[in-house]
Amino acid sequence: MTELSSWLREGVEAVEAWQRTFADRSEHPAQRVDPERFRAAFTELTERLTDNYPFFHPDYAGQMLKPPHPVAVAGYLTTMLVNPNNHAVDGGPATARMEREAVAALATMFGFDQHLGHLTGGGTVANLEALFVARESHPGRGVAFSTESHYTHARMCQVLGMPGYTVPVDDTGRMDLDALEELLATGKVGTVVLTAGTTGLGAVDPIHEALALRDRYGVRLHVDAAYGGFFTLLADSELVDPRPWRAIAGCDSVVVDPHKHGLQPYGCGAVLFADPTVARFYRHDSPYTYFTDADLHLGEISLECSRPGAAAAALWLTFQVIPPTPDGLGRFVAASRRAALRWADLLADSPHLALYQRPELDIVAYFPRRNTLSDVDAAAARAFTDGMNDKEDPVYLSVLTVDAADLARRHPDVKSDADRARILRSVLMKPESEDHVDRLHRRVERLVR
Ligand SMILES: *Cc1c(COP(=O)(O)O)cnc(C)c1O
Repeated sequence: MTELSSWLREGVEAVEAWQRTFADRSEHPAQRVDPERFRAAFTELTERLTDNYPFFHPDYAGQMLKPPHPVAVAGYLTTMLVNPNNHAVDGGPATARMEREAVAALATMFGFDQHLGHLTGGGTVANLEALFVARESHPGRGVAFSTESHYTHARMCQVLGMPGYTVPVDDTGRMDLDALEELLATGKVGTVVLTAGTTGLGAVDPIHEALALRDRYGVRLHVDAAYGGFFTLLADSELVDPRPWRAIAGCDSVVVDPHKHGLQPYGCGAVLFADPTVARFYRHDSPYTYFTDADLHLGEISLECSRPGAAAAALWLTFQVIPPTPDGLGRFVAASRRAALRWADLLADSPHLALYQRPELDIVAYFPRRNTLSDVDAAAARAFTDGMNDKEDPVYLSVLTVDAADLARRHPDVKSDADRARILRSVLMKPESEDHVDRLHRRVERLVR
């Protein structure tokens, strides 16, 4: 934190020095605030902020939440003092260039030779943009996504007035491609959304196998890698199956959320298109025949208007120091992945906890060993609240609701006496989890014994 304090001070000083290069100006009295009043309100703010879960700490092993890296914070807050708007080059020339550079680094990470892309407020808007382009390029046809895909795909289909079709998943939560093919044979689908890391279980759809369907049925392939995208940096390691990650390069579009595994504050999502000419769908005047994204203002290739230049600067600065390469950001996701594998091994041997399924990325799903589904549900719910409310040694998990059939497929020994059950889920997205997971396991075992 002391490092961050000094970076922030340097940032404030640098911006003030730049401001001093302009003609003198006096502060309007309306800008001034009563210091006492500020102090009181600020104290209240910092107190109220303690009403939060410790997202920074590895004992928080719940949802996809963690603070941004201090480098990103320094980049964001310093740039915020200037407050550029990346809608247009005139809104922030410096940060518009940084956005292009950061987005180009993401495109390289996914193996796109050329691209059109930009940052967004998050994965939802990024996916909306991809589906908007899907609708324009495949008019009159709908979108297919798996039952485990993010809930916003169905919602965005509604927004865009396109039919959405859900495709069942296999025993590990990946899209069932036989079922997809049956649906594609009807000719109703123009775009398939493949998820590279589902939000619930971190399952990766078989993108490499879906590639063949693209030409056979003339569909677009969009990859929702909002959560999982940065795990592509592990494709050359033993830590993940490389095939779906390498196949992303052959798809039409991909979404990744730097505000999840990219060390950024909210909101920073990104959408990338393999074909830069899709820019024509964003234009209101006559279509051009050829685009390079350098020709266009960012606002001409995005649905949103104003966007924070600070988000682009934060990502750009982070990539200068921790690039999206295997030995940069890859070290973060590798640690998370190893933590998940280690915990899976511990769970597999536990007399008190059962592993729901082998983790593919860094999401671990597990449940208290009980004979019936209703007992699993009750014990999981109790562990979740007891863990969080423990004054001495709190631990923060999240719950995932699963259908009886899904649990029975994986654990036929548990008697199905209910339609669904809550189980436990931990996203191990902090690299510190790697050294913490043994303790976490013992702690959770104690909760459910
Ligand atoms: C988080 C997530 C989204 C939504 O992204 P936001 O940044 O929360 O808007 C979409 N898809 C997947 C797979 C996600 O994990």
